[in-house]
Parts: sequence; C-alpha cells; structure tokens
Amino acid sequence: MISKVLNNNMCTGCGLCSDDDMLIDKAGYLRPSNNYIVDEISTECCPGVIVSHLNESAPYDLSWGPIISSQRGFSTNNEIREKASSGGGISATLMYLLEQGKVDAVIQIGANKTQPIMNEVYINLTTADVLNCSGSRYSPSSPLSIIRKVLKDDKIYAVVGKPCDIAALRKLKSLNPAYDQKFKYLISFFCAGIPSLIGTRDILAKFGINERDLIEFRYRGDGWPGLTTAKTKEGISQTMTYNESWGTILNKYLQPRCKICADGIGEAADIVCADAWDESDVAGYPSFEEKDGQSLLITRTDIGKSLIDDMIYNKKISVKEFPIQKISSIQPFQKERKELCFSRLIALRIAGRNVTKFEGYRLLKSAKNQGMKNIRSFIGAFKRSLSNRI
Ligand SMILES: Cc1cc2nc3c(=O)[nH]c(=O)nc-3n(C[C@H](O)[C@H](O)[C@H](O)COP(=O)(O)OP(=O)(O)OC[C@H]3O[C@@H](n4cnc5c(N)ncnc54)[C@H](O)[C@@H]3O)c2cc1C
Ligand code: SF4
Ligand code: SF4
Repeated sequence: MISKVLNNNMCTGCGLCSDDDMLIDKAGYLRPSNNYIVDEISTECCPGVIVSHLNESAPYDLSWGPIISSQRGFSTNNEIREKASSGGGISATLMYLLEQGKVDAVIQIGANKTQPIMNEVYINLTTADVLNCSGSRYSPSSPLSIIRKVLKDDKIYAVVGKPCDIAALRKLKSLNPAYDQKFKYLISFFCAGIPSLIGTRDILAKFGINERDLIEFRYRGDGWPGLTTAKTKEGISQTMTYNESWGTILNKYLQPRCKICADGIGEAADIVCADAWDESDVAGYPSFEEKDGQSLLITRTDIGKSLIDDMIYNKKISVKEFPIQKISSIQPFQKERKELCFSRLIALRIAGRNVTKFEGYRLLKSAKNQGMKNIRSFIGAFKRSLSNRI
C-alpha cells in the first residue's frame, strides 16, 4: 500500500508511516526512508491513500467544507501579530491552550536550528517556544513523523499541520478512543502546496548566499505578509517580497500530490486559519502590500468553536464576523482549485494512475461551477500525468 503511494507520486510527506526517519529525496521533498512502517496506522490513515474530513455534524459548504463559524481578526498581543504569518490566529490559539492547561504540549513545525532552511518537528511546552515556531515555512514538513513516539506517553496534545497531515490525524483519532483524547485539538491553515527544497535553494542563489553561512531563514512573518529573509553569520541580510519568493520561485516547485489536492482548506481540522487578504487587483487577485496582519479564522467542530469563543471572551483575539459567501473574494485560488479537482482526478485515473481518494468532499457537485474549464483541466492533467509531471 505505502509503496503504491510512493510509486504513484501521491505521498504528501506527512511522516506517519515513519518513526522519525524522513529524508529529503532527489526532487527536494521529504519521503519516508526505506524502513517505512506498514501497519494499521499507516495503511488506514496515509493521506496519499485517503483523505476524509469525518465531520458529519457541521453544515457543509460546497466550497469551504464543514463550517460552523467564519471570522476575520488577529491576536491582541502585538508581538504575536507581528511575528506570525497573517494575524497570528494559530500561534495565539496554541499559546492560549498551553496557558490554560488545556493541553500539555504542542506538536508543530519550526526551523531547524543549525540548518535554517530545513524544517523540524518540535514538541513545545512553553508559549515562548510556540512563538518561535510562528510563521509559514514554504518547504517540506513531516509533523506526523513524531506521532509514533508520543503515542506511548500520557500527554494531551494540540497539533498544527498542513490539511493533509490533519486529515491523517483525524483518521487516526477515529481508530481508537485513546488517540481521540490524546490529540485533542487539530489546527490547520489554507495550503496551496509544499514547494521542494530546491525552490528555497533558488532563493538563496538569487541572494548570492551560501546555505552553509546561514544563521536564519524566514519565508515570511515579521509583518503581513512579511519579507522572505536570509541572514548570515557574517551579518549579511537579504530580503525578497512574498510576491517574488512565492509568486515567481516557490510555486514553480510544488509537490506532485499537491497538484491534485482537493483539500487545501483543512476540512478535517477543528480550527483553520488563512490570510484574510482585504483587497483585490483588477484580475480579482489579492494585494500583497505590507500591512497589519489579519487572519481568516474558520471553526469546523464544536470543540474548535468553543475554543475560539473562549479566546474572544478572554480578549486574546479580536474578530469580526466574515460571511462565508465572501471567502471566495479573498481566496479565489482555493475555490477554483477544489472545483477543478474532480476533472484532474479522473484524468489521472484514466491515465492508469492510483490516486488519492477524497471522501466526503462532494467534488462532482462542486465541479459543476467550473463548466467548460473542467475540460481544459482534464486535458492538462492527463498530459502532465503522461509526462510524469504529476
Ligand atoms: C505551505 C503553505 C502553504 C500555504 N498556502 C496558503 C494559501 O494558499 N492561502 C492562505 O490563505 N494561507 C496559506 N498558508 C497559510 C498562511 O501562510 C498562514 O499560515 C495562515 O494565514 C495562518 O497565519 P497565522 O498568523 O495564524 O499563523 P502563525 O501564527 O504564524 O502560525 C503558523 C503555524 O504554521 C505552522 N507551520 C508553518 N509552516 C509549516 C509547514 N510547512 N508545515 C506544517 N506546519 C507549518 C507553524 O508551526 C505555526 O504553528 C500557507 C502556509 C504554508 C506553510
Ligand atoms: S503520505 Fe505520509 S503515510 Fe503516506 S506514504 Fe507519505 S509519509 Fe507515509
Ligand atoms: S496542497 Fe494538499 S497535499 Fe499538498 S501539502 Fe497542502 S494539504 Fe497537503
């Protein structure tokens, strides 16, 4: 089963089939070493095989998934808001969970301390450590590579991951009531895909900086969206706008599985945050001009909703209602992507590929919004599949 996922380029690099043994492959993505584990956990939950939101209780919006509330806002702590990717919704939530003793620890991604372009999984016990992990890192991450280790302890965790990581954990929670209690809060973000590490190395080449000289590398944060910043031990600092780093370099290197992802919006999470861009250019795409961060905060479960309500009551975040029908105007890419997924998946199946199954996403229904565009998307995906670009 896992070998099929790997051979069909459907691996997301989540790490669940590995015991903290993920390696960067030739294409620059994290993949399990040859010692990958084939057991009930990996075969039932691998997000290369199946992705399900397993949420039958929240109302289902065809574009935005199971959704209880939608708000736009930010952390009331200026340091969090400034350091975080958008408005600091995720970091503020994690810090609140630790402060209130609602969880013992947080599992999340941050920069590796000695190789700053690499990601590492951290089990954070303090709010200071959570804040250090704030900011989006547009490179491969395997937050679930640590899950097998923590299964044996008696701690309660909040986990932050890409939507595919969180769907795998949601499935794991459904297998055993003990796991359900253990991974109490699942938090995610809108995700356009994971770029290969080669993308980051291209940025460094543009900066003229040698990877070995780096002491810090941030993709964004320190403002909204914030600059991509590399700092060396000799005191050199180079920056690039988010528009340039993501828009002209990183998005050229997306992981194959991300190109057919029907869940870039974290449908399996309790809480999902995204950029709440507030202006569009003439083509209807958002402006990335620097300003104070604003997160879109979506709750999908009762536990997520009551946590956000608590944080509002305790003035940890400041929010305004944001109508679900308006999300498309600030996140047009995610809507179109979900709607075109059905045609892409069919194209790959006809080309003889084993593709991920998306359960409960109502893809055929949402494809209808795209009309004739489905045909172009089908042909494009079919061709890319034959030339192994997906
Ligand atoms: C690969 C990627 C693609 C994204 N695509 C979109 C998009 O299409 N649309 C959109 O609106 N937003 C996207 N985002 C999310 C957006 O950049 C912000 O993270 C989101 O607005 C939350 O902001 P925040 O201020 O609440 O987050 P913060 O408070 O800064 O917290 C960010 C959290 O994300 C975790 N994290 C960072 N990088 C990774 C990673 N590679 N893997 C797993 N966890 C990670 C950190 O550990 C931290 O907990 C993407 C993020 C990533 C990492
Ligand atoms: S998606 Fe995760 S569980 Fe599946 S093969 Fe890749 S690393 Fe393993
Ligand atoms: S685009 Fe989808 S498959 Fe790719 S990292 Fe994001 S959630 Fe996972």
